Amino acid sequence: MSKIVQFSTIGALMAGYFRGEYDASALKHPDAFGLGCSQGINGELTIFQGKVWEATAGEAPHLLRQEMLPFLQVTEFVPERTASVVNIDQHNAEQHLNQFIPLQNIFLAVCIEATFDHLVIRRPQPASDIPRDINDFARTQQEDTLNNINGYLIGFWTPVLFGRISVPGFHFHFIDEKRNNSGHVLEFSAKKAILKYQEKQTIEVTNPGSAEYKNMTIDLSSLDKSIEHVEK
Ligand SMILES: [Zn+2]
Repeated sequence: MSKIVQFSTIGALMAGYFRGEYDASALKHPDAFGLGCSQGINGELTIFQGKVWEATAGEAPHLLRQEMLPFLQVTEFVPERTASVVNIDQHNAEQHLNQFIPLQNIFLAVCIEATFDHLVIRRPQPASDIPRDINDFARTQQEDTLNNINGYLIGFWTPVLFGRISVPGFHFHFIDEKRNNSGHVLEFSAKKAILKYQEKQTIEVTNPGSAEYKNMTIDLSSLDKSIEHVEK
């Protein structure tokens, strides 16, 4: 699987379509790598070394049991390049990668392994506790700042051209070495890091199949703002 396999779109998710339809048990490949969210956006998912970790506010990260997922982006990660880099953060990671490959028009799977001196991650409240509307979801998330933490940023670079399919720019989730901390990444910095990437020429997007999805109206005029607001 050199392609990115994606279920639903960031546009549909941000427009409020959270119903789980993709079977997580399909993610059995030992190199499975990616991110997503669980049913009702109960948690942020990090898929690393073939395991699916769920991060929900107030709970330790745990392996996801068999479940249907509303959004997922997964691939097999076989890095084409592994480089040592210094002083990397969310602002300059694009420049770091650009030294190796011009990335403005392509997809990449990216892993950054480091002891992060600063990391801000975010996790949603349990879906059962909060009536879900995308604004409630965004407002009630738990943010944690971590220092000197060893772990992995797992994710994708998406060109702006595809910014309603996937989060434009970087979308990273984090899992630490000890599997005690995980979530969607808002900020990071590391003095030294191992940067790995693989170009992905193909992205295969499967839309939800329900009548509810087919009939939903997505307000494109506010969508880009929601993606920026909720995912960045
Ligand atoms: Zn995320």
